[in-house]
Amino acid sequence: MTKRVPLFIDGEFVQSQSEQFIPVTNPATQEVLCEVPFATQSEMEAAYESAKAAFETWKETPISDRARVMMRYQALLKEHHDEIAEILSSETGKTFEDAKGDLWRGIEVVEHAANIPSLMMGETVENVAREIDTYSYIQPLGVCAGITPFNFPAMIPLWMYPMAIASGNTFILKPSEQDPLTPMRLAELFVEAGAPKGVLQILHGGKEQVDFLLHHEDIRAISFVGSVPVGQYIYKTGTDNMKRVQSFAGAKNHMVVMPDAAKQRVINNIAGASVGAAGQRCMAISVTVLVGEAREWKHEIKEALMQARPGAWNDPGASYGPVISPQAKERICGLIQKGVDEGAELLLDGRDCVVEGYPDGNWVGPTLFAGVKPEMTIYQEEIFGPVLCLVEVDTLDEAIELINNSPYGNGTSMFTASGAAARKFQHEIEVGQVGINIPIPVPLPFFSFTGWKGSFYGDQHAYGKQAVRFYTETKTVTARWFNEDIESGPNFSINLK
Ligand code: NAD
Repeated sequence: MTKRVPLFIDGEFVQSQSEQFIPVTNPATQEVLCEVPFATQSEMEAAYESAKAAFETWKETPISDRARVMMRYQALLKEHHDEIAEILSSETGKTFEDAKGDLWRGIEVVEHAANIPSLMMGETVENVAREIDTYSYIQPLGVCAGITPFNFPAMIPLWMYPMAIASGNTFILKPSEQDPLTPMRLAELFVEAGAPKGVLQILHGGKEQVDFLLHHEDIRAISFVGSVPVGQYIYKTGTDNMKRVQSFAGAKNHMVVMPDAAKQRVINNIAGASVGAAGQRCMAISVTVLVGEAREWKHEIKEALMQARPGAWNDPGASYGPVISPQAKERICGLIQKGVDEGAELLLDGRDCVVEGYPDGNWVGPTLFAGVKPEMTIYQEEIFGPVLCLVEVDTLDEAIELINNSPYGNGTSMFTASGAAARKFQHEIEVGQVGINIPIPVPLPFFSFTGWKGSFYGDQHAYGKQAVRFYTETKTVTARWFNEDIESGPNFSINLK
């Protein structure tokens, strides 16, 4: 019988009583790895009740003890690094190196969460009025929840619950139903690290389970990462239910190439950033804007993409793996056809890609379009596959205008040898994460992941100081301790006296 993924409720890994299960498959072979349940109403309620009860004791647990759980957790994640990466590769198809990167970028957040005592320090001012002091405390919210996408099954759950839990909250995670095995292994190690019963719960499922979290009146905050339509729905529904919501959505990231940039470096960076992870990264470069004479480099870009080839996770020569599902492949191939129909020049077509030994994999070869115009569907829609669009402009100003007109604002990058051009770009561009001669500028966890515009709904971003603000309230105390027994009578003004 196919293995069934358990739920994680009240500190126990339990089999769901649900009648609804879906298969989780290896995208390189279609082998069914396990079945994932859609949690029942009573299971969801039990998860909430346990998280609520755990909050009462966890919020009183000394902050250094909470930090120590994170210290042990990061050590365990490092110890089990390769084993987790192998699970991650099996359910996402990512190459082993890329799977290790997925986990590593999450471990860095756990390291950051271990610094929680300094991140939760309040502020103090003495003598705000005569013998009156004001000081603030940062306190947790309560039960928080997170909903995560398929494309980073280690990193993105680890963006959320370590920061929320280190801050004193308890957390319900609803991971992607397409790759639940990685987050379950992360949860097992969290228990081993000493996380008390109930601080983390994992519910599997889809819209119905997400709706439970969005409509539950006592869940205080929702973190979401996923596609634009779902991200908008989560933000609207969550805020309508009076919750704090941070919603990270889709993207269309542009790389601007100036003609003074180091050509070979540019070309190598374009290849890795566009088709790496089969283009299934929210920070992937999906549009390259060639400025002026950099237009001439199209054919070298094509040569570089032709060298990239998909393959199985343990093939050391593979540049990237399959896309997540046959449906994703069909959607990507449909968009490629649309690009052709709408008049873009298809320089490289990855639709008929074959990988020897893996006839059933969801393979899409590197695909390159030139002559792409902003009104085309392939420019406007997030393809989320190994497809790169080349756009040509005459000046940096035109490149900036093009990007600023995009509804998305997750990431962008620029390759140049000119400090002045780079300074202009970083200042004028309306995108939240900017790389200068860096193709995928994902900030490390002491900063925050700061997407803008249609790529993010909310105000406080993931990890870093902003995550602590998102998962906490500030309490400000104004206090006077009387030195002398002097009573000056009632004060009818708002001034402190
Ligand atoms: P998705 O939106 O399909 O799913 C994300 C999560 O939402 C999953 O847990 C899923 O079960 C749930 N969900 C799906 N449909 C729902 C519905 N109708 N109502 C409520 N919940 C629903 O996204 P995906 O395909 O798993 O992930 C890829 C997307 O995520 C891409 O658009 C990518 O750009 C985006 N992404 C964004 C970031 C970022 O930081 N901005 C990071 C990674 C991925």
